[in-house]
Amino acid sequence: MYIGHYGAALALNSVERKASLWLLFLGVQFVDILFFPLVLAGVERMRIVPGFTESTHFSLDYMPYTHSLLASLLWSALVFVLALFVLGTKRPRKISIALVFAASVFSHWVFDLIVHTPDLPLSTDASIKVGLGFWHNAPITFVLEMVLLLGGLWLYMRATKPRHGFKLARYGMPLFVITLLLINLGNLFGPPPPNFHSLFAFAMVTYLGFAGVAYWLDRARTDR
Ligand SMILES: [Zn+2]
Repeated sequence: MYIGHYGAALALNSVERKASLWLLFLGVQFVDILFFPLVLAGVERMRIVPGFTESTHFSLDYMPYTHSLLASLLWSALVFVLALFVLGTKRPRKISIALVFAASVFSHWVFDLIVHTPDLPLSTDASIKVGLGFWHNAPITFVLEMVLLLGGLWLYMRATKPRHGFKLARYGMPLFVITLLLINLGNLFGPPPPNFHSLFAFAMVTYLGFAGVAYWLDRARTDR
């Protein structure tokens, strides 16, 4: 799953506004941000296989350290502890903020489970792998990701209101979500990436870029 993950970021931010939206945007892609460098380093493995599913062009062969259920739980726990440490002892609602960051990391596995072919291991022993396989149907994958993203947007818009004197305060976030949906059309129905390096670059640039846009647009809104 790609842009559907941001539905979780928007929803979690509506629950705990003190957990910054841009960090949640990075949180929901945390394990993917680790995955690509680990593939480059030869620790985890994927291959570009044109038409592997109707909506993806890669076979995800070995990713126990980023995309197993066990690893996802451990990464979420680590982020929880790290967030508590960074927030310090005096910060009000620190447990709630840290929990929301941890949930953002764990949401990746849950959302991936919906679309992935059975390539998500439960633990480091990769004998049992799960995935509901909606990637085999590109239109359904697009609609599923859209529903998740629009659901998150709806919760976010309900929890916030435009801040005075900011450009794009009212329509910025909905326009951003529409842009994400258009990018996903190209992603799901477009040609395979020419090689791993271009896929790596595309993933990193969009993950960081989307977090930057989220930061910029969220500044224009305030709690309702
Ligand atoms: Zn992933």
